[in-house]
Amino acid sequence: MPPGEFELIERFFTGRGAARADVRLSVGDDAAILRPRPGAELVLALDTVVSGVHFPADMNGRFVGHRVLAVNLSDIAAMGAEPAWALLGLTLPVADENWLGDFASGLDDLARRFGVALVGGDTTRGPLTVSLALAGWVPAGQALRRAGARPGDELWVSGTLGDAGAGLAILQGRLTGGGAAREELLRRFLLPEPRVTLGQALRGVATACIDVSDGLAGDLGKLCRAGSVGARLDAAELPRSEALLATAGKQAAMRFALSAGDDYELLWSAPPSARPRIESLGADLPVSCIGAITAASGLQLRGAELERDAAHGFDHFGG
Ligand code: ADP
Ligand code: MG
Repeated sequence: MPPGEFELIERFFTGRGAARADVRLSVGDDAAILRPRPGAELVLALDTVVSGVHFPADMNGRFVGHRVLAVNLSDIAAMGAEPAWALLGLTLPVADENWLGDFASGLDDLARRFGVALVGGDTTRGPLTVSLALAGWVPAGQALRRAGARPGDELWVSGTLGDAGAGLAILQGRLTGGGAAREELLRRFLLPEPRVTLGQALRGVATACIDVSDGLAGDLGKLCRAGSVGARLDAAELPRSEALLATAGKQAAMRFALSAGDDYELLWSAPPSARPRIESLGADLPVSCIGAITAASGLQLRGAELERDAAHGFDHFGG
């Protein structure tokens, strides 16, 4: 017999994530009770992932649990905030215990790593859809925003771009690959790593910040529109992994790096004077200067490597 709702919550969603001293009442009552942090501002994000839309319908529950928290952690990271508490909204077609066990442990592992407590949620029946609301803290007035980039600022990105998009393409049979490179690209899609530590280190350094969830082109467009500025991108500087280059080739790698989504890297602007400080942040995670903010709106792409084709992701970049 499948578990009832009460048993299901008890088994899979009680005591998940980190134990936190600021949680006074967690899963099991009508609502959670949490202690606010003096001198801080509360940062809230919510993201939903839908089976067949945001992840393949047959994806292992572990990756779904990881994903729904990772995408929210990435939003909290882009604000320069420290994550704290999560609420989970779970809609399930059936209470499949194996799937739920995998889902809960994927969520739990990532939550513990980033000090997040799962303090409540809701469970309903329907097509597989998972929502997670994540709350975090930032010292008052210090949150990073999309708006704030200034002409002359340099444009930076963490990690490498396009890997997750190539991983999804492999899963969907649109790209073939093998060996360690294939594994690496699949891992980048299935287990995105939110840049939480970097986001907090960028407080007081970045003038604007966004996470790259929809692809560099689209997300840079949002950062520029928010700040009423434009940008110049140096195509040759876009960080592309060996795995991506080896699997997709140079042209397609550029296309993935420019317009594929799901990387969850951070993209930010900062004055040139901040360069030494930013470079010192790149000890654990590479950071790359990929261009600059311009007063003129719209986007200029520079670089001989770039085929017209590769720029198609920039179509919706409003000039
Ligand atoms: P109510 O009907 O009062 O909303 P529920 O039965 O929906 O109560 O929830 C009971 C408790 O279990 C609450 O504390 C709620 O936050 C928690 N909860 C329900 N579903 C989840 C879930 N998927 N993950 C975490 N907590 C959950
Ligand atoms: Mg409820």
